[in-house]
Amino acid sequence: MSGSLTIVGLGPGEAHWLTPAAQAAIEAASDLVGYGPYLDRLPAREGQVKHGSDNRVEVTRARHALQLAFEGRRVAVVSGGDPGVFAMAAAVFEALEAGEPDWLAVPITVEPGITAMLAAAARAGAPLGGDFCAISLSDNLKPWEVITQRLEAALSADFVISLYNPISKARPWQLGEALALAARHRPAETPVIFARAIGRADEVLRVLSMSEAVAAAGSADMATLVMIGASSTRLIAREGATPIVYTPRSVTKSPCATSQGRT
Ligand code: SAH
Repeated sequence: MSGSLTIVGLGPGEAHWLTPAAQAAIEAASDLVGYGPYLDRLPAREGQVKHGSDNRVEVTRARHALQLAFEGRRVAVVSGGDPGVFAMAAAVFEALEAGEPDWLAVPITVEPGITAMLAAAARAGAPLGGDFCAISLSDNLKPWEVITQRLEAALSADFVISLYNPISKARPWQLGEALALAARHRPAETPVIFARAIGRADEVLRVLSMSEAVAAAGSADMATLVMIGASSTRLIAREGATPIVYTPRSVTKSPCATSQGRT
């Protein structure tokens, strides 16, 4: 049997958000490689070997997966959401680039998944109807100044901004600082979404104002995606239900006019 490597996106939550192609790649694998809790979510199949590891050893895990595939195994590396968004696909290609030249012969496929930002947007309404960007707040892999510079640039350009990895035990203050920065650029009533564990049984979607979000930063956790609205993002209130959040597709004023007087 000749080996292969597929980097599979599991989507944000339950199996109904897993694509049929991702499901087929998982079923066809002889070996599953990934972060332990993601592997636990997958049903065990006889003869299939699970190689669970810690979340922090992405490149080591990627090298292991490439080596197994090179030895002839059909390997699926699993990632939450989409594997190309702040996840394993980049780690695999980093390991491939710096690794054994022989590994270049291994066929590699990436199977996309629904990323957290899209799942959260779907639950909230259509906050990504205009231009948007995504920033990881984790300063494990990049300096905090780079994050704040990118955040400032995105705020000045009036993008809707999705913040991945907003907070963790080791990074307790970054989200508060990011939201305080956002509050200096955007009006106090700008919608901010805290989308937690979307697609899972314990899902919680909160729609706050910018000033409420600054006060609520400490209530986010690692399973939360925070989405900051643009100046045109608005709410449709509904009796007894979470308001719908949407960003119209048309833009009439320039971002410079929007942020003037607020910085
Ligand atoms: N590859 C993943 C993202 C990995 S970074 C994807 O495409 O979704 C991990 C971060 O993603 C978390 O800290 C959180 O901000 C976000 N996230 C992942 N799953 C989520 C979910 N079900 N609900 C809300 N946010 C989620």
